[in-house]
Amino acid sequence: MALKICVLASGSSGNCTYISSENTAILIDAGLSCRETLRRLLSLGVRDDNIKGICVTHEHDDHVSSLGVLHRKLGAALYANSGTKDGTLINGKLAGLPWNIFLTGEAFSIGDLKIEPFSVPHDTYDPVGFVVSAGKSRAGIVTDMGMPTELIRTKLKNCQVVILESNHDGPLLNDSSRPWVLKQRIKGWQGHLSNEQACQMLSDIAGPDLRTVFLAHLSSECNKPDLALKLAKEVLVKCGYHEVSVRLTYSDKPSDLVEC
Ligand SMILES: [Zn+2]
Ligand SMILES: [Zn+2]
Repeated sequence: MALKICVLASGSSGNCTYISSENTAILIDAGLSCRETLRRLLSLGVRDDNIKGICVTHEHDDHVSSLGVLHRKLGAALYANSGTKDGTLINGKLAGLPWNIFLTGEAFSIGDLKIEPFSVPHDTYDPVGFVVSAGKSRAGIVTDMGMPTELIRTKLKNCQVVILESNHDGPLLNDSSRPWVLKQRIKGWQGHLSNEQACQMLSDIAGPDLRTVFLAHLSSECNKPDLALKLAKEVLVKCGYHEVSVRLTYSDKPSDLVEC
């Protein structure tokens, strides 16, 4: 059974990823406008009424801003842990949504997809990454984390597709005009993963199963796509995994659609 994966949008202006098996399609996060989400799904040839669920990583606006309207439009069930559900209540527009609550660390199913939520360090109530699998096909999605952890490394090993944050380049962040407090937040253990940390993570998790890496949540101000791509490719080649395909994700257009 194969998975199809496309990162519809990634970055601080909105995040949404499409994953499907033969029978079930879901979205991870809903931070892209409803209209643009539907338009990008259509560009993949996906009918929007096929989306059976929306799984939410955490309550930051760039991951939930269109959750209510997408839920109403698609009729898709909503999945989050109770911390994230509570976190969304800060946004009045997201009150009263009919959540399906999962426990972090406990797998659940949507159709023939198995979803494994696991903790990541980020500055929200109970942020998670996901491994989504169908049969032997496994895709790992981890963005918005301040540091790599052993749990994340364990979850991402044996995935054929990994969507991994490569948020900022250290020197570009330091030299940016961002306020000192914001720089500290981004660099902190509950902030965002740098190119250097993403490369370290890739060298730790790369194995014979890995086919595709998507670099995600790139900062438009404090990163350069070509630089992130070059560093990730270099580290995989250095580890002996020349054949792994490294791809970018974008805020203004969908990524490539890959199968595993
Ligand atoms: Zn984010
Ligand atoms: Zn976040």
